[in-house]
Amino acid sequence: MNRTRTLRVAVVGAGIGGLTAGIALRARGIDATVYEQASELKALGAGVSIATNGSRILTRLGLGDRLHAVAGAFDRYAFRNWQGDPIAGEPSRLSFGDPATTWFLHRGEFQQVLSDALPTGALRLGHRVVGATEHADGIEVDFADGTSVEADLLIGADGIHSHIQGMVSEPADPVSEGVMAYRALIPTDRLDGVVDMSICAMWLGPQRSFLTYPVSDGALLNVVAFAPTNLDVIESWTAPGDVNELADTYAGWDPRVGDIIGAMDATFRWGIYDREPLDRWSTGRIALLGDSAHAVTPHLGQGANQAVEDAATLAVVLRDCDPIDIPARLRVYGGLRRDRTRLVRESARDAGRTYRSTDLTGLEQAERIGAIFAGIDVNTHDAESIAEMALAAAG
Ligand SMILES: Cc1cc2nc3c(=O)[nH]c(=O)nc-3n(C[C@H](O)[C@H](O)[C@H](O)COP(=O)(O)OP(=O)(O)OC[C@H]3O[C@@H](n4cnc5c(N)ncnc54)[C@H](O)[C@@H]3O)c2cc1C
Repeated sequence: MNRTRTLRVAVVGAGIGGLTAGIALRARGIDATVYEQASELKALGAGVSIATNGSRILTRLGLGDRLHAVAGAFDRYAFRNWQGDPIAGEPSRLSFGDPATTWFLHRGEFQQVLSDALPTGALRLGHRVVGATEHADGIEVDFADGTSVEADLLIGADGIHSHIQGMVSEPADPVSEGVMAYRALIPTDRLDGVVDMSICAMWLGPQRSFLTYPVSDGALLNVVAFAPTNLDVIESWTAPGDVNELADTYAGWDPRVGDIIGAMDATFRWGIYDREPLDRWSTGRIALLGDSAHAVTPHLGQGANQAVEDAATLAVVLRDCDPIDIPARLRVYGGLRRDRTRLVRESARDAGRTYRSTDLTGLEQAERIGAIFAGIDVNTHDAESIAEMALAAAG
């Protein structure tokens, strides 16, 4: 150990990635503070799935019980064709991962559990970062209100429109997939007899798919419906959608799909984007994490999981780090994360093409998705252990 003093880290953004980074760094004895531009963390109305590769890390951070308590309990998957007939049996012999260690979460509840895990003062709301200046002893971080702080390291966890990304490599614009997702949360008591809340169900049809799973301890059903678009829908959580338009998009599908859409008060649209892989993830004093480093399409539900993997990796490589060693440790981090997230991005794009295929049968689609999912090792990939081994090997 060659640490001379506690490392001071400024994390930009209190999304899933930034909050997890704050918790993971503090768990390793690092003085991390998360700065978020919003003045409050709003409970955005969307579900997010955390697979075993993410839940393993969050459990080690001591958050397992709290997250498990607000997850939607489910025990099996169902793949159906658009008319509602089971594909690969029901319950399905295919899966997206182990139900016992997969959490379906309401994003607002997830963020709440994460922010509650940070001590007072370690999350600073209403702090929009507008600039940063690296110097020999550290980095000065500037906020929109004219104030600034000193840190040893800045972590840009500021999402797909990252401002920090452009300080590390050429600014990279989001790339549209030509697809949009309609999303909704529906109170479960409106769906009696329509859906079995212990199932994660996916209906597959030509160019469209319709996914449901329970969140909020089973109180809400999360719906994600993917459809092609030639609109340049912004990649927003909140662009309003039209329930009638959604109903028209799925007209003639399994009556259960129509019943679910009929139970919605509102939906919102989300443009599907990712970004080309970056050639650089860090400078001497700045590192990127989460969507700012590697936005991926959501077809494998891995964007947030990859941000959690990033956070765990960074926390390991920065352990006991003297400030002078930061650039070298950040290179270890980038080396560990770039290929992994590139594979996940390519796999997610492949999964999207498979969902939209008009050539494959439903069984072929489902089997291919299962194989793609297995290819990114969500059940076995342990980012933390991999980082420990890399750090040991780096001496
Ligand atoms: C609707 C939807 C559904 C999804 N479903 C899944 C899923 O099922 N599973 C999964 O793994 N992933 C899913 N994803 C992807 C996942 O949500 C993202 O990959 C993940 O949220 C990225 O987290 P992040 O922390 O990198 O960025 P974000 O969550 O975008 O957070 C960035 C934060 O930075 C703040 N910020 C930005 N600029 C500044 C600044 N200059 N100063 C201070 N703060 C700033 C923002 O306000 C924001 O709070 C989904 C994404 C969406 C949009």
